[in-house]
Amino acid sequence: MNPLTNLSVIRRLVQVAAFAFLVYGSVVVGYYTADKLSVAFPALTCAYDMRSADYCTLIPFQHQMAHRVGESISNGTSLLMGLLPVVTTLGTFLLLFVLLNKAFCGWICPLGFFQELLGVIGQKLGLQQRESLAPGIVDRLRPVKWLMLGVLVFSLPLLSGLGFASHDLVGAYCAICPSRIMTTLAVGDTSQLYFDSANPTVMVLSVSADFLFGAMVALGLTTRQPFCRICPLLALHAAFRKVGLARLVKNPSPRCGKCGLCAKACPMDIREIHTTEKQGDITFADCTLCGRCVEFCPDQDVLQLKYATFPVFSASPRYFKQRKQAQKRWESWTLRGWWSRRRSPATERA
Ligand code: SF4
Ligand code: SF4
Ligand code: SF4
Repeated sequence: MNPLTNLSVIRRLVQVAAFAFLVYGSVVVGYYTADKLSVAFPALTCAYDMRSADYCTLIPFQHQMAHRVGESISNGTSLLMGLLPVVTTLGTFLLLFVLLNKAFCGWICPLGFFQELLGVIGQKLGLQQRESLAPGIVDRLRPVKWLMLGVLVFSLPLLSGLGFASHDLVGAYCAICPSRIMTTLAVGDTSQLYFDSANPTVMVLSVSADFLFGAMVALGLTTRQPFCRICPLLALHAAFRKVGLARLVKNPSPRCGKCGLCAKACPMDIREIHTTEKQGDITFADCTLCGRCVEFCPDQDVLQLKYATFPVFSASPRYFKQRKQAQKRWESWTLRGWWSRRRSPATERA
């Protein structure tokens, strides 16, 4: 298969370019400009990374909930004025989000790419890959992203601004965000990997952050995108996914629902792709618009990635066959296999 017709290869190239720009991009756009690009980016690109080209939308939400909404209520000043920055951030987020929808996850997010890279490293090291999580685990994990968004991004910062919770909870989500540690390490800054025992709140937050980052790295070597499943930005995307121009579309066929190859290919274990009989936009709450289900669907046009009403990429039997073979070749090469092949002629000679 020509790599340039392989959707996964194209996606990987876009992810590498996005990672370079979002993690190191202020070198190109200038630090001052980077600070002003949108400050409401729909992917986890981090404000703590001093070379980042833009900031994720979760940081202004937390600070505005605490310092604008919370403090305007507790000081008795205009709530409307307090809410205005939140509405502005949401509007900026939506202006960007509408362009790519959840593809900000599958194609752009540096932390999403990092987790996929961990999976590649694990597979190439010959570690046994967990093909998919058990449905029971997936179902239990799904509500966690909403809790992360509701509690850590909105409620705790608001309670902090109202004076009901510690000031250390103003940036409650940022304090445990694995993107903060990953992106700062990627620019050679180790200051975000710390343990802080100044008080119980920051101690719990710093331990949780280090644990979450460590767990993500360890799990990511064998399990597909472990952190994405509980990411608060995935929840925010889910809430607005119907306004996005990019979407996953299904045209069910009689054979559909039996093979399940699309669900097997899905890194987010969305088994409903093959069971749903819905026609049209099926962009699920957990979808990252990566397109793997479309690549691995063997039925003509049953699944499609569309931009507004235009099909961008459609399932086809020919592509499916070529893609399956390419995947087999890719998975058959591991470091362990390469090493034993290198050693075996020597052993035979001995
Ligand atoms: S710590 Fe996470 S949520 Fe906060 S700005 Fe960085 S990427 Fe965004
Ligand atoms: S769900 Fe994954 S890809 Fe999407 S913003 Fe969160 S970490 Fe990034
Ligand atoms: S449903 Fe399809 S496009 Fe969405 S995450 Fe799963 S494989 Fe990717």
